[in-house]
Amino acid sequence: MSTALKSASSSVDLERAARAAAKHAYAPYSEFRVGAAVLAGSGALYSGCNVENASYGLTCCAERNAIFAAVAAGESTLAAVVVYTPTPQPTPPCGACRQVIAEFGPTARIVSICDGAERIETTLPKLLPGRFAQKNLRRT
Ligand SMILES: [Zn+2]
Repeated sequence: MSTALKSASSSVDLERAARAAAKHAYAPYSEFRVGAAVLAGSGALYSGCNVENASYGLTCCAERNAIFAAVAAGESTLAAVVVYTPTPQPTPPCGACRQVIAEFGPTARIVSICDGAERIETTLPKLLPGRFAQKNLRRT
């Protein structure tokens, strides 16, 4: 799978979807509203927002919710992940989300955008070197 987005419009659509998803974030505890959008291998786009819980540990990030929506729709690969936070600086995916991205999009382009001009465009090997992967489960 290519790490490049299929077209410039894909990038714009992903960013728009991530921003829109943040509006649906359920974040009454942190008030940190996050939206994410992923471009799946089929070319379809899926979005997600963070969903918090009074039992904090049950909170799920926007990135994982977007990825799980893609998987629920039958996708198994990711070409790109976009994360939007309404902050002056862009926010990279947390460690848990990096591990989930590794499962479905080890070559995905990972982009963080915010309300400021700065953005982060990176790849999984840069965010999660030495990752735990399926090959580590082999016993022989
Ligand atoms: Zn996360």
